[in-house]
Amino acid sequence: MKITELETIPLRLPFAQPFKISQGARETLETLIVRVHTDEGIIGIGETQAWRRQGSAELLWSLVRTIKDHFEPLIAGRSPFDIGGILNTLNEALYNTLYAQAAVADALYDIAGKAVGLPVHKLFAGECRDRVRVGGLLAMKPTVGELMESAQSFYERGFRHFGLKIGIDPKQDLANVVALRERFGDRVVLRVDANGALTYDAALALLKKLEPYEIDVAEQPIAIWDLEGLASLCRATSIPIMADESVSTDHSLLEVIRRRAATVVQTKIAKNGGMYRVWRLWTLASAAGMRIYPGNHPSTSVATAAVAQLCAAWPGALMEGVFAVGVSGALGADIVTEPIVPVNGEIRVPSGPGLGVELDPDAIARYRIDR
Ligand SMILES: [Mg+2]
Repeated sequence: MKITELETIPLRLPFAQPFKISQGARETLETLIVRVHTDEGIIGIGETQAWRRQGSAELLWSLVRTIKDHFEPLIAGRSPFDIGGILNTLNEALYNTLYAQAAVADALYDIAGKAVGLPVHKLFAGECRDRVRVGGLLAMKPTVGELMESAQSFYERGFRHFGLKIGIDPKQDLANVVALRERFGDRVVLRVDANGALTYDAALALLKKLEPYEIDVAEQPIAIWDLEGLASLCRATSIPIMADESVSTDHSLLEVIRRRAATVVQTKIAKNGGMYRVWRLWTLASAAGMRIYPGNHPSTSVATAAVAQLCAAWPGALMEGVFAVGVSGALGADIVTEPIVPVNGEIRVPSGPGLGVELDPDAIARYRIDR
């Protein structure tokens, strides 16, 4: 079997409500589907996002041009099964284009799975779990009351792990945490995420105030580049620290490990370059004794399925990550025939061949922005 074409489908999808974090609010998501065609008629799909922060300046159109003009000529004619070698070729040609590589890499796994009639997790390490518990992401709201409404609705849908966005107003952050603990007691696990917005001093002051409220982990409290600061925070507060934005390649994770700058790592399909590279990060992290938090930028069921497949195959422990944030209510639309939807706070791992999800042509036609 040979690769014949990389088809790009740029999409703009509505958020159900403005998606607000410390770095600003969004009303739409720009996401890219890649369909990799083969000479035997099997077509694989993968997804990446033009997230435009967290160390990425990708735009939808730069992703499209990278994939069409640079990746396609390099891999047309090659076997879609040669995933590691193809990714080496792409990375050597355009170093660190992880966001663009992610959609292509995952589409290759989708092809391989469809070719042998097996879900992708069978190509990694086989089935270790068929359902994955996920966390609810609490985006910023204008008032504590509105935040509690959002938390209550997650709770009623069976979510017991909350990822609360913090990092603009420390008083409101504290008030939100206090209100969540008062409402839910010890029935929920609370995690906070500043998306790198705080200074070291502000982060330390806030985390000290949050210590009595049993915060399971504080995600990326300070800037991407400040590994020294993260390492100092790890020693200065009893709240464990998670690196998200600070981890892109395996080299960056190794640096976090060497400096003991975090004890938890978050991966994302787009940020980290697809399933193959995420699996490598999980291997490194677990060898270093870190906890693993499976994440994603808000995304459709395609990138959600990719993480679910990895979780299914992972033999070790996993945290209840927010990789399903897009399909848990953040997005107002999906683009597959059978959308992944959490039930009782859990995702059922798709069991069909490949990623186990198929594009819905009507939804694609509605949301694509290139025709
Ligand atoms: Mg994060």
